[in-house]
Amino acid sequence: MVSCVLQTAFLGDMILTTPLITRLAEDGPVHVVATPANAGILLNHPAVASVIVFDKRGRDRGVGGMRRVARAVRATGASRAVLAQGSVRTAAIAWLAGVPERVGFDTSPGRLLYSRRVPFDGARHHAQRLWQLASPPGTTHTAPPLRPSLFPSPADVALVDSLLREHEVTADTPLVALAPGSVWATKRWPFFDALAARLREHAGATCRVVVLGGPGDRALADTIAAAVAAAGGAPVIDATGRLSLLASAALLARCRVLVTNDSAPLHLASAMNTPTVALFGPTVPGFGFGPLAERHRLVEHTDLPCRPCGAHGPMRCPLDHWRCMRDLDAVMVADVVRAIVTDAPSTPVF
Ligand code: SF4
Repeated sequence: MVSCVLQTAFLGDMILTTPLITRLAEDGPVHVVATPANAGILLNHPAVASVIVFDKRGRDRGVGGMRRVARAVRATGASRAVLAQGSVRTAAIAWLAGVPERVGFDTSPGRLLYSRRVPFDGARHHAQRLWQLASPPGTTHTAPPLRPSLFPSPADVALVDSLLREHEVTADTPLVALAPGSVWATKRWPFFDALAARLREHAGATCRVVVLGGPGDRALADTIAAAVAAAGGAPVIDATGRLSLLASAALLARCRVLVTNDSAPLHLASAMNTPTVALFGPTVPGFGFGPLAERHRLVEHTDLPCRPCGAHGPMRCPLDHWRCMRDLDAVMVADVVRAIVTDAPSTPVF
């Protein structure tokens, strides 16, 4: 059976869709409709037959763009469309493409155009919810959380090697990755610089901090680099804006631990099984987007009654105190980082 998965949400959603894609590939070729920003994350994935790019905010905006993508979906010969992203727009594309089986969640805005609706289970991890869309009607899966999968190319790995060589990092150098960015301002923990300075204190001279993110995160990386320099630490490796998504995943595979907000790097680390310390502020892991690396720790203010205050986190704290993040101090987070790394079977870093 040929399947088409439509996933045009955020990068993290696409990464969490990879277990579903892998499951569907057991039945036959899987084609994926993705945004231009997310298409690259599926490169080299053995379960993906092709990627159809849907530029919903650009050249494919409007009915004409939907028709173009629907024609591309029809050309795949798909007999099953899985609406991993639940908008009316993606449902309409599957319908226009003439795909007979259209499966999605019963809570999705586009559900009236589905031929089968699967109950949205809010208690499960989102990777597992998405995986459930491939289940035969009437069955319930109780499998443990599924880890996503990504496949950096040799060129991605070579780019990382080059970056690390440039910074005189050897194979033995313990790397600590920090991902301080997020689209939503209230999700950005404000003490990454203080944490980086403390990791230097505990790590000794050999520990290197590497900052991951997009070009817009460079100012955050500069602040972190300044804090580490002031503490006398080894120079920070600023990888912001320098790596593709898959190269970022390849870099994470080299790191002993990632410290991240509730944002896309968390899911990259899940795919690469990099030990993860995840900081949750206005959102909660219970939404289904927590880390899936075998070793992970959650850091959150569990007794703050205003949490959670939005599906994504507002741009500004509606109560102005922003305690969900400000109360998570760097000393405590540094202890959590030390704990997760010293659990490692290899020699402790800190
Ligand atoms: S209202 Fe509460 S959860 Fe929301 S941003 Fe403010 S402190 Fe955080």
